[in-house]
Amino acid sequence: MAENDILKTLIIGSGPAGLTAAIYAGRANLKPVVLIGSEPGGQLTKTSEVENYPGFRKGILGPKLMTEMMEQAKFCGADLRFEGAEAIDTRSRPITVTGGDGQKYRTHTLIFATGAAPRWLGLPGEQTYAPPSGSGVTSCAVCDGSFYKRKPVAVVGGGDSAMEDATYLAKMCASVTLIHRREGFRASKVMLERGRANPVIKWELNQVVDEILGDPQKKAVTGLRLKNVQTGATKVIEVAGLFVAIGHIPATGLLKGQVELDEEGYIKVNDRQETGVPGVYAAGDCHDRRYRQAVTAAGMGCRAALEAERYLTHEGLA
Ligand code: NAP
Repeated sequence: MAENDILKTLIIGSGPAGLTAAIYAGRANLKPVVLIGSEPGGQLTKTSEVENYPGFRKGILGPKLMTEMMEQAKFCGADLRFEGAEAIDTRSRPITVTGGDGQKYRTHTLIFATGAAPRWLGLPGEQTYAPPSGSGVTSCAVCDGSFYKRKPVAVVGGGDSAMEDATYLAKMCASVTLIHRREGFRASKVMLERGRANPVIKWELNQVVDEILGDPQKKAVTGLRLKNVQTGATKVIEVAGLFVAIGHIPATGLLKGQVELDEEGYIKVNDRQETGVPGVYAAGDCHDRRYRQAVTAAGMGCRAALEAERYLTHEGLA
């Protein structure tokens, strides 16, 4: 592709939203370029078994599902590039996007599907003990769980991610302490019950992590100081690892000031995945704070690609 070429569709992101958009845009002969970034496949590559994606009665491993989607997108004619986006100008026509490798892309339509990044507790020890500077704090049980085999660990959070992480870690760790700041859970009933039925998981409710304790020389976690939010009482538990599973923050920094975002940074779109800027669409977790499922993200990616195709036809650019 020459620098002066104008693409019909550029897609940023390689989770279910971006790749479904790529499949649809590819099949519509829009020859989409997809900037798949440094973590191709998005959040599902950090999960284990996906049991609720239609078509896989016995479940499918998250990384496998994403590899299949990437292969399908390529098969449909998408050009997948291992770089992210560094800058976007949606006000220029054509829209310009600068890739992480410095290449400038010019495109008539843009589908933004960058997903979301893990939320952290914001404690001083958190980054000290997170890789690469230390060990013991992570947001990915599937990636890092095996480092804590037969060791005690803790998971913080009360949603499906926390339940999934705790259940996964319970298969290999000596104990798993689930720390949650209240007694009610956001987690779905089925996942909460699965966790509750697991004898390896211990529950610390109405508790927050007050301090991450560690060995400063080895930069390794040794325990946590917990604080009861009702009584203020504190106590120390010994763990070698803390898995933070408290939700995500939309990866929308590049679009700040370019399209309308809500107060938490999620991209606002109408029921056609259209941002307020003609030809610019958003799909998946960078927009969706409510459902955040692979299947809903895929649905949004499909809609965005269909709308992009209609826009190109309407504008005489197809
Ligand atoms: P979530 O549902 O937003 O839950 C985040 C949890 O972290 C909440 O319990 C919240 O507590 C807690 N939390 C947030 N900030 C905190 C802080 N600063 N300190 C302590 N606790 C904090 O996020 P999620 O679990 O990542 O799930 C996101 C979406 O993905 C959901 O729609 C979920 O169903 C889906 N998901 C599905 C699966 C699956 O089906 N296999 C697996 C994982 C995720 P409060 O409740 O008190 O606010």
